[in-house]
Amino acid sequence: MKLRRLFARFVAAIVLVAVSVFASVLLGVFPGKTIPVLMYHHVVAGDKLEAMKVTPENFQLQMNYLKQHHYRVIGPDEVVAAKKNHRSPYKNVMITLDDGFEDNYTSALPILESCGFKAMFFIVADWVGKPGFMSWDQILELERRGHIIGSHTVTHPMLTEIGLQKAKHEIYNSKQWIETALGIPVHFFCYPTGRFNESLEEMVRQAGYDAAFVTAPGRAHSNSDVFALKRIRVSDSSDAGWKFWWRVAGYYLLAREHKANRMQDALGCRANQ
Ligand SMILES: [Zn+2]
Repeated sequence: MKLRRLFARFVAAIVLVAVSVFASVLLGVFPGKTIPVLMYHHVVAGDKLEAMKVTPENFQLQMNYLKQHHYRVIGPDEVVAAKKNHRSPYKNVMITLDDGFEDNYTSALPILESCGFKAMFFIVADWVGKPGFMSWDQILELERRGHIIGSHTVTHPMLTEIGLQKAKHEIYNSKQWIETALGIPVHFFCYPTGRFNESLEEMVRQAGYDAAFVTAPGRAHSNSDVFALKRIRVSDSSDAGWKFWWRVAGYYLLAREHKANRMQDALGCRANQ
């Protein structure tokens, strides 16, 4: 009898611990949680590369999920401030779209607006107005509707491969080009393909940007390094089910970093460099 009571207490203790851990995850109180910055490219149906697109239906489902679960969609200023202060406010998320595809205007914009969300659009200056890409007028309208425009270079090269002189042109001139075309200041930069190194980070800082975003989660940088803000790729395989929940819960990058670090240790190299 005594043994049975002891066993019941043991089980109750286990259940209590399990519930506490689960609640902690849900409430985001574990350290290491980050503000998820979601990265999209195309929002379009059809045969685009899987990793580069979500269908408008899935994008709508994902935005509905954020709205129904009372996520606060924040801008880059707040992400930077939170990073500098080592804070990860509960249920905050940022939405970014790269490359300036025309479907960002025709498909993503109406869906974002149906939920009252603002996003960040990273523009490749020399691609603007070309077939399949937004025009300056469309980008200006995004800005007027409260969305934020950032630079994604002039021609979208892999910056680590072109030498510092050409990289400087891509980083400096894209800022100037977009600022002149739109008549607004450009404060944020995004490295194409996520490739960057410390010299490029310094160059982005010198060019007058406030912060920069990368793509893949690699080895952890300093917690306050706002020139290497990591993002989470969302594609059609991460629909509005548990995979999307896992991406916006705030622990996804931590898990990915852990995995990337293990791989890099095994391979003896660093990604994202
Ligand atoms: Zn890109």
